[in-house]
Amino acid sequence: MVFKIMKEQHGYELVLLEGYRSPDRQNMLAGNPNTTRAKGYQSYHQFGLAADVAFKRNGKVVITERDPWAMRGYELYGQVAESVGLTWGGRWKSIKDYGHTEYRMPGLKKTREMADQLIAEI
Ligand SMILES: [Zn+2]
Repeated sequence: MVFKIMKEQHGYELVLLEGYRSPDRQNMLAGNPNTTRAKGYQSYHQFGLAADVAFKRNGKVVITERDPWAMRGYELYGQVAESVGLTWGGRWKSIKDYGHTEYRMPGLKKTREMADQLIAEI
C-alpha cells in the first residue's frame, strides 16, 4: 500500500532492499555499531515485520541521504508509512534509518520461537 501511494501520489518508485533478515545476518551487521545496535531477534527484520527501501530514478537504485531528492522521498515515505500505522526509522533518536519501517505487531514477543512461527506463515 505504501509503495502504491508513494508512486501514485508522490511520483517516487520504491524498491525493497531487505525484508526478512536472518538472525545470523543481523548479528553480523551489529558488528558495526554505525549500522545497527540490534542483535539477532532484537530487530523486527527477524520476524518478517520490517522493510528497508530505497528509490528508483531513471532506472537506477538510489540509496543516499545526501541527495535532496532522495531525502524528500524519505520524508514522504515516513509520512505515508506512519499514516498506515507503521513505525518509521527516520524518527529514531540514536541511529536514524530513513529507509526503514516496521510493523509493531501487538502481542509480539521477540523470541526465536515467535520468529520461527511467523516466518513459517510467510
Ligand atoms: Zn531495517
